[in-house]
Amino acid sequence: MADKSFDVVVIGGGPGGYVCAIRAAQLGLKVAVVEREHLGGICLNWGCIPTKALLKASELYHSMTKGAEAFGIKAEKVTVDPEKIIGRSRDIASKLSKGVGFLMKKNKIEVIEGQGTFADRNTLKVTKDGKDVATVTAKNFVLATGARAREIPGVLEADGKMVWTYKEAMTPKAFPKSLLVIGAGAIGIEFASFYAEFGTKVTVVEAQDRILPVEDAEISKRLEKSLTKRGIELKTNAKVLGLKAGKADVTASLELDGKKTDEKFEHVLLAVGVTGNVENLGLEQMGVSIERGAVKVDKLYRTGVPGIWAIGDVIGAPWLAHVSSHEGVICAEAIAGKNPHVMDYSNVPGCTYCMPQVASVGLTEAAAKEQGHEVKVGRFDYQANGKALAIGEAEGLVKTVFDAKTGELLGAHIIGAEATEMITTFMVGRHLEATEESLAEACFPHPTLSEMLHESILDSDGRALNA
Ligand code: NAD
Repeated sequence: MADKSFDVVVIGGGPGGYVCAIRAAQLGLKVAVVEREHLGGICLNWGCIPTKALLKASELYHSMTKGAEAFGIKAEKVTVDPEKIIGRSRDIASKLSKGVGFLMKKNKIEVIEGQGTFADRNTLKVTKDGKDVATVTAKNFVLATGARAREIPGVLEADGKMVWTYKEAMTPKAFPKSLLVIGAGAIGIEFASFYAEFGTKVTVVEAQDRILPVEDAEISKRLEKSLTKRGIELKTNAKVLGLKAGKADVTASLELDGKKTDEKFEHVLLAVGVTGNVENLGLEQMGVSIERGAVKVDKLYRTGVPGIWAIGDVIGAPWLAHVSSHEGVICAEAIAGKNPHVMDYSNVPGCTYCMPQVASVGLTEAAAKEQGHEVKVGRFDYQANGKALAIGEAEGLVKTVFDAKTGELLGAHIIGAEATEMITTFMVGRHLEATEESLAEACFPHPTLSEMLHESILDSDGRALNA
């Protein structure tokens, strides 16, 4: 058993933890990462990346079976091999996880495999398969243990066989005939989009009054229309009272519009949010404050216990990989005694990779009004964009929300092809404090989908050129 000493030990090798470790190493600190499963965490292994590989397969299938004909191309006898689709997604995950291992070596970061538990404020015991593998001491520990699917004991519990979390939904043996998705957030909607494309009869139930409830209401409505057209059944204002798994199906007791009904599905996917991995670390005895499954931290990710820091999903919303990585960099710089910037949580883009894609940054129109802004709203429909028509992607909308008095870009919302790539322009604009006027004066390339961003900006002033 190794006894080792470091400047920084990061617990958890996900996009928060491994990035934090790299930045700390870049700043000359002696660093280790303790990881109990795979480097790369949920994002690389069971989240962002493997799901994008799956969704690309469904898009490709959609193009071949539905989209190509309009281009004068007909694909006949298109076959689907679920094993291969899933295998490709797993291969990409494993390649990336190995890539993180390489980055650790390159930056001289020691990786210790196992579960870390604090013995005291400066000492972490690492165990694997019930055996002690290392005792590490450090001046600083960074908790980057991530989160897992939220369950509701007695009501919504996953069994890994009939009732899935995202993990099982990513590795099915075959595509089920029917699937109930509980929760219409990013995870629920992405999987609904994937399975529906391959012929599964998908039903989504959402407790709130619309799907993707964090998005602008107009975007939710557009998505609702589009997913319904693709055969996905969406039930909002819906309650799940319980699930009963049998051998071949699951009976879900639902409350829809105040009426109780029982429905059977081949599988059920729980997508009702996530909860922080705060257990089995010995945090309580160290005096680290935990509130509703999340570690409490200040603006530089200090927990209040000297030398113990926390970043990423374990500190709570917005539970996004890009946020974790950004926090990791700030945290490492703070540990190294630099003077890092403070993260601007109001300018974090959110992206959902369903078909059509949804992306946004900043305030929705409703939230801007609630905050007392007088708003100017611009819109531009994909149907009026030459590039969108040329590439067969004429379904979508760009919407911009400006402050009428100051010209500040308060929020931007996109539904349609490449939404998740295009949103970056608005994020950078907001970051650099661009105004309606300065953005209107910029020259956007033609022919591109991004011209629609410009047109939406112009439309807020009633001067869109192609609408
Ligand atoms: P979420 O919180 O975004 O969505 C969960 C949804 O479930 C909510 O709309 C909520 O109203 C609903 N809900 C909760 N309890 C319910 C119940 N009992 N019955 C019916 N509906 C219920 O969570 P998620 O989709 O599980 O994703 C978890 C986190 O991961 C989120 O923060 C999400 O943004 C992030 N994520 C992001 C991406 C992406 O950026 N592409 C992809 C996946 C996950």
